[in-house]
Amino acid sequence: MDSNGIKKQVGETCIVCEEEKALGIHLYTSFICVECEKSLINTETSDPMYQYFLRKLQRVKTPPLYS
Ligand SMILES: [Zn+2]
Repeated sequence: MDSNGIKKQVGETCIVCEEEKALGIHLYTSFICVECEKSLINTETSDPMYQYFLRKLQRVKTPPLYS
């Protein structure tokens, strides 16, 4: 391949939409794609979608405890 040396990566699985996306941000050990990040930012806290996002994110912040 004669590209400029940058390999295109498939991406990572977004924890919110659970699709593989190339662009996004890392939150702790998880990945959120740019689309979901934007939706999250544009979602009002009173919106049920916001709670949905929060729940997804909380799963990330608090891993299950094994006892
Ligand atoms: Zn996503």
